[in-house]
Amino acid sequence: MNDIVSINKELCTGCGVCIKICPQQILYLDKESNTCSVSDQTKCDKLRGCERRCPAGAIRIN
Ligand code: SF4
Ligand code: SF4
Repeated sequence: MNDIVSINKELCTGCGVCIKICPQQILYLDKESNTCSVSDQTKCDKLRGCERRCPAGAIRIN
């Protein structure tokens, strides 16, 4: 199964914008890589709020 929320770790700066705005609270900062990660793909509302707001263009909702 393909991921619904796909995060480009090369582009992500770990700014935390997506983490703050995600209504489902499924995004978190992976402290080791200082990039965003997803806890539970199945809870994503697919409304693309994170995709629109990410300043680095690092999130894609599939
Ligand atoms: S699309 Fe919505 S629910 Fe899914 S990760 Fe982005 S902000 Fe969260
Ligand atoms: S908003 Fe974009 S750059 Fe910032 S933590 Fe989320 S995915 Fe990374």
